Amino acid sequence: MSTGDAAATTLFADTFGGAPQVVRSAPGRVNLIGEHTDYNGGPVLPFAIDDRTHVAARICSTPGLSVVSSRAPGEVVTVDAADLQPGLVSGWAAYVAGAVWALAGTGAAVPGLEVAVHSTVPIGAGLSSSAALECATLAASAMVAGVELDADTLARLAQRAENDFVGMPCGLMDQMAVTACREGSVLYFETGPGTIRHLPFDPAAEGLEVLVIDTRAHHALADGEYAERRRSCEKAAALLGVGLLNEVSDPAGALDRLDDDVLRRRARHVFTESARTREVVRMLAAGPVAPIGPLLTASHVSLRDDFEVSCRELDLAVDTALGSGALGARMTGGGFGGSAIALIPTDRASVLVDRVRSAFADAGLAAPAIRAVQPSAGLL
Ligand code: ADP
Ligand code: MG
Repeated sequence: MSTGDAAATTLFADTFGGAPQVVRSAPGRVNLIGEHTDYNGGPVLPFAIDDRTHVAARICSTPGLSVVSSRAPGEVVTVDAADLQPGLVSGWAAYVAGAVWALAGTGAAVPGLEVAVHSTVPIGAGLSSSAALECATLAASAMVAGVELDADTLARLAQRAENDFVGMPCGLMDQMAVTACREGSVLYFETGPGTIRHLPFDPAAEGLEVLVIDTRAHHALADGEYAERRRSCEKAAALLGVGLLNEVSDPAGALDRLDDDVLRRRARHVFTESARTREVVRMLAAGPVAPIGPLLTASHVSLRDDFEVSCRELDLAVDTALGSGALGARMTGGGFGGSAIALIPTDRASVLVDRVRSAFADAGLAAPAIRAVQPSAGLL
């Protein structure tokens, strides 16, 4: 049993007494490139990191849910069976309740459950603690309910939990990443056709590493702005006569047909980001990792200027990383705070860490958390 599974098991025993029937875990993720493309039918290229969320579960005789998290160990949240509906559960337990609700929505007979959550994925850092929690909960509750779910179905049910139960209109990248990623690979997910491919990704073989810079900034506007960007993309797609922006056959011509400057820039980000992501896929399939650096940086510029989802802290992290020898750097995740990634020669990493820390201190910002990440396993 892994240390994380053991910690969830201990929390379970301390809270509910006895042992859980199952423990499942799902990782956090970073997205190498392909940001805000998933709800536009475009490609994404995430990999799982080794921080994980472990969910221990057991059937109980009372219908509904009792949930505890190591983030608030003394607090058991109980949800009556009648309240397992969108709008009736708020706070962190909504991610767990939403997963159970989505499973019940398949027609499965979901019993009453006791659930204990232990996680090392930083919360709200753009590393997808939400999808890790949803997917590990779905996997654990499906297992005790005797329901078999394939990876694709599980990821889509978890997305339904976040969209319809929590009320966050995210695309499918995070749930697919934490479910399907594999150790040593990035996951090339074409969200339009729904195809996935695992591409080996080994920066260490070239003396490189990927650093995650968690800016610790969480801008309150984030959810509303995310929903607004999604609506802008839908509006641009409707004006262009397609269902999703990535269905457009001539992106350049399409941009000329969008009169509204804001909509044109939003669409341009989606088109150029999709092209950059597929270019990175071609590069990784062909050989070395180093040449992808400039595409990562171009992605950041597009997210900053065209899609306008970056912020002061992310820009400072990216600019300082590039000034410290990074081959490429970009914000990762939805934006408005959270984390940036930098691809950097390992022998320059400590310089980057020092410089980013001092740049944040000089700007009067809280100290960022910086660490190296390796492509890790998905749902276990
Ligand atoms: P991100 O997915 O980038 O970490 P989100 O805002 O999408 O950020 O999701 C974070 C939310 O997920 C938290 O505010 C909390 O409600 C919930 N959450 C995630 N992991 C846990 C956990 N281990 N324990 C309790 N709640 C969690
Ligand atoms: Mg999230």
